Amino acid sequence: CGIVGYAGRNAAAPVIIESLKKLEYRGYDSAGVTVLGSGVETYKAVGKIINLESEIPKNLKGAIGIGHTRWATHGRPSTENAHPHNSGGNPVKISLVHNGIIENYMALKERLIGEGYEFKSETDTEVIAHLLHKHIYGSPDGKEARNNLLAGLREALKEIEGSYALAVISADEQGKLVLARKDSPLVIGLGKGENFAASDVTAFLIHTRDVIFVDDFETAVLTPDSVEIFDREGKLKEKKIEKIEWDF
Ligand code: GLU
Repeated sequence: CGIVGYAGRNAAAPVIIESLKKLEYRGYDSAGVTVLGSGVETYKAVGKIINLESEIPKNLKGAIGIGHTRWATHGRPSTENAHPHNSGGNPVKISLVHNGIIENYMALKERLIGEGYEFKSETDTEVIAHLLHKHIYGSPDGKEARNNLLAGLREALKEIEGSYALAVISADEQGKLVLARKDSPLVIGLGKGENFAASDVTAFLIHTRDVIFVDDFETAVLTPDSVEIFDREGKLKEKKIEKIEWDF
């Protein structure tokens, strides 16, 4: 029910955990985090954020990461169904968090299973992870990227019907976080040497009040030092930076 993302130079996990706590009011049944450390490292837990916190190693490195609080729509609340959802067997390539509902997930899931993708959860969301993998690597054991993360995501989204705020990271594109939105809230926070993403500004207001609201069909690439937003056709877009004046 809430997503967060962080691209910076500090350890991502504690920042993400703090942000997830700020989103607790939205309601959730489970939570999870992925950081890009030596590879894609994912931790999940059912129940309170504190349960997730106790799963995460204290000195976890990795300055790019994503996090999620889940309100189950497809698949019961469980560790397997908690986000992030990953794709790419061994090693894992792609990890993503999703807020929303994929309406045509059944048809996509059957097709992807037919192509050899193995599903670990009952969620609609896992379909996006494998579909994205397919558009980048061509097949479940494809090792060579044929598309970059952003281009692959844009292709995958053409096949998806429903609502989404997405934050995605890839083992093959260290140092960046990719976002997409349709019919679910998504906002970017601009920091110094670090940038943030979340379903709601409250998640990162302690770090920055300079924000960009992502609109439907836009995608974005965040690095510690840059934020780029693209329109539906993939053209770079000028967006207004807004200042959040109110207190919370
Ligand atoms: N539909 C997804 C799921 O059930 C995302 C739910 C959410 O937005 O928390 O896992």
